[in-house]
Amino acid sequence: MIEVLEISVFLIGISIGSFLNVLIDRIPREESIIRGRSYCERCKKKLTWKDLIPVVSFILLKGKCRYCHSPISWYYPIVELITGILFILVFNVQLIQNSQSLISQTAIISLIYYLFISSSLIVIFFTDLKYGIIPDKILYPTIGVSLLFQILNTRYLIPNTISSAIGAFLFFLLLFLITKGKGMGFGDVKFVFFMGLFLGFPKILSAFYVAFLTGAVVSLILILWGKKRFFGGTIPFGPFLVFATFVCFFYGEKIIKLLLPGIF
Ligand SMILES: [Zn+2]
Repeated sequence: MIEVLEISVFLIGISIGSFLNVLIDRIPREESIIRGRSYCERCKKKLTWKDLIPVVSFILLKGKCRYCHSPISWYYPIVELITGILFILVFNVQLIQNSQSLISQTAIISLIYYLFISSSLIVIFFTDLKYGIIPDKILYPTIGVSLLFQILNTRYLIPNTISSAIGAFLFFLLLFLITKGKGMGFGDVKFVFFMGLFLGFPKILSAFYVAFLTGAVVSLILILWGKKRFFGGTIPFGPFLVFATFVCFFYGEKIIKLLLPGIF
């Protein structure tokens, strides 16, 4: 039974991933999301359902457009697969937290909430990676939904999460001002407000640690490899912040206990 549910969750995940691809490409270009069918980036030919089956179409078409045979970006199947895998992970975590039962209303609401947050984070990861933008159109609703969920479900945590959000925001604002916006964009400053709100204290500390560490390691590797130009000169920090949010949502408490034993 669980396996059937997991496969369904995965299939829903890759289909939503396919929609996230549309958001990732259209929001930074300020194109309409609901109007207009998907088209080939190269020959502009409108794609039919046969070209749009998540992951499967990419494999069947061997990564090439059916009409002009130009290569399709690897981003598309990767976003779909990541969404599917993350949906299964979130589903399993919720299943464990609710001791194997998702029948209750609160359990279903929190599952939908975490899937929504995961989807938003995937969009932010890839819009920043591809276009260097953390779109307000995604970030603001995500902050709003997160706040609403906490008001309805975990009100006792709000003093903690709000102060974590403000603290994180001020810390990054300071970094932003010191580096004169060269180290990070203002989108990152706004995004860490969400991180504080979503993770709370002390998970936000682990998240900053993970983000700066992975950011430094990956940047160093890319610079040594001469791949920095790959990202148009600057390496966006948003993907590292998103990665850290996911890692610390799952393992934040374990990480802080390793980093600061005795205090936490
Ligand atoms: Zn084409």
